[in-house]
Amino acid sequence: MREFDDLSHVVALLSWDQETNMPRTGAAARAAQLSTLNVLRHERLCDPRLGELLELGAEGEPSQEQAAMIRNLEHDRDRAVRLPVEFVRRMAAAESRGASIWREARAADDFGMYRPVLEEIVGYKREQAELIGYEGEPYDALLDAYEPGMTVARLEPLLASLRVELERILGAIRGRPAAPVAPFVSRTFEPAAQWELTLRILRDIGFDLGAGRQDISAHPFSTSISLQDVRLTTRLDESNPFDAIYSSIHEAGHGMYEQGFDPRFAGTPLAQAPSHGIHESQSRMWENWVGRSRPFIEHYTPIMREAFPDALADADAGQIYDEVTRVEPTLIRVESDEVTYNLHILIRFELELALLRGELEVAELPDAWNDTYERTLGIRPPSDALGVMQDIHWSHGSHGYFPSYTLGNLYAAVLWEALVRDLPDAEAGFAEGSFAPVLEWLREHVHRLGYLHSAEDTVRIASGGSGLEVGALVRYLDTKYETA
Ligand code: ZN
Repeated sequence: MREFDDLSHVVALLSWDQETNMPRTGAAARAAQLSTLNVLRHERLCDPRLGELLELGAEGEPSQEQAAMIRNLEHDRDRAVRLPVEFVRRMAAAESRGASIWREARAADDFGMYRPVLEEIVGYKREQAELIGYEGEPYDALLDAYEPGMTVARLEPLLASLRVELERILGAIRGRPAAPVAPFVSRTFEPAAQWELTLRILRDIGFDLGAGRQDISAHPFSTSISLQDVRLTTRLDESNPFDAIYSSIHEAGHGMYEQGFDPRFAGTPLAQAPSHGIHESQSRMWENWVGRSRPFIEHYTPIMREAFPDALADADAGQIYDEVTRVEPTLIRVESDEVTYNLHILIRFELELALLRGELEVAELPDAWNDTYERTLGIRPPSDALGVMQDIHWSHGSHGYFPSYTLGNLYAAVLWEALVRDLPDAEAGFAEGSFAPVLEWLREHVHRLGYLHSAEDTVRIASGGSGLEVGALVRYLDTKYETA
C-alpha cells in the first residue's frame, strides 16, 4: 500500500512541477517520465500476487479500517486488471496528445484541428467502458472512477430535478433589476498585493502554510504530496482580484481536506477522499458558503481596501458583496456564478452522456453545444473557443468527471445545513474573522474519516442522516438570492 501511495504522490509532484516551474522544453521528457511511473503503478496493481494478498486479507477477519483499505485497493485493482497494459499505454498517449492539440486548437479557434483526436479519445472511452464493464450503461463505468458506485440511473433524475429548480431561481433573479456595477470593476489591482492578500486569507481560514505552499499556475489546482505537504496554486489577474481570492479559497478547501486526514491513515488507501464529488464539496463550501457570505465580505472589506487603497478607495462591503454574488448567464463555466455554474455542468453531462451512448457524434458536438447553451442559458457562443473547446477535460479523457462538480455543491449544501444546526453562530463569526469552528467541525465530521466510508455514507454520518439530495442546495440558493 505504501508503494502505491509513493508512486501516486511522485506522479503528483511531477505533475505539480510541470504546471508551476518546469521550462516548456521539459515537456516531452516529463510526459515520458509520467507515463513510465503510471505504467509501473498499473502493472503492480495488476500483479496476481496482490490479488492473492487482498483475498487473504479479506478472509483474515480484518478490522473496520483494514476492511476499508482492502475494499479501496480492490476497487482500483478491479478497474485496472480489466484493461490490458497495451490499451492503457495507447489510450494514455492519445490523451496526452489530445491535451496538447486542444491547447493549439483552442488558441486557433479551430474545432476541425481538434476533432480527429477527440474522436479517437471518445472511441477509447467507449472501449474502456466495455472493458471495465457496467450493469446499467457504459457511462457508469467512467463515472465510477470519480464517484465510486454512482450510476446514470441515480444521477439523471437527480440532476433533472435540480435543473428545474435552477431555471426557476435564475428566472426569478433575471426578472428583477441587477445591482449596479461598482466603479472598481474597471480598475487595476496590484498583483503583488493580491498575492499577499491570498496568503493572508489562507492563514486566516486555517490552511497550514507550514505543511503546504501556494504557487502560481495558468489554471489553479491543488495537489497533495503527503499529509504534511499540500500544494495549492492560484493566478493573478490585474483587472480582477476576486479571481485570485476565490481561486485560493477554493483550492484551500481542497487542501485543508488533504491536511485533515487522520495521520494514522498516512500511506494507506484511507488517506484520500472517497470521491471527487465530496472533495469538491469542501472547496465549494469554503469558496461559496463561507467566502461569498455577507459576514465574510464585511470582515475583509477594510482589509481589501488596505491592500488596494486606490482601486477600492470608494468601495463598501455592500458593493463588494453584490459583485461577488452577481448572477448572470455567461459563456465560460469557470467564470460563472453559483446559480448558473451547475447549469454549465448539466449541459456537459447531457452531451458526454449522449457521446457515450452513441446518440451524438463528435462532429455534431459544436452545434449541439451551442444549441444547448441557447436553450439553457439564453446565450449562443460566438466561437468554439468560447464554446465546446473551453474545457480541458474531454481532451485528456476525463469523461465522467463533470458531474463531480455538481455533486460537490449538493454534498456541500447538505453538510452546511448540518454544520449550522451544530454551530448556529458560525456564519456570524466570519465577521470577526472566526473560521476555526467551521474547520474544526469539518475536521471531525468529514476530513478525519478519509476514505473509511463511501462519499454518500460520509455525508450521511456527518449530517445525521441526509445523503445525496437536491433540497439543501435549493434552500441555500433560495435564501441567499431571495427567490423562495
Ligand atoms: Zn475544485
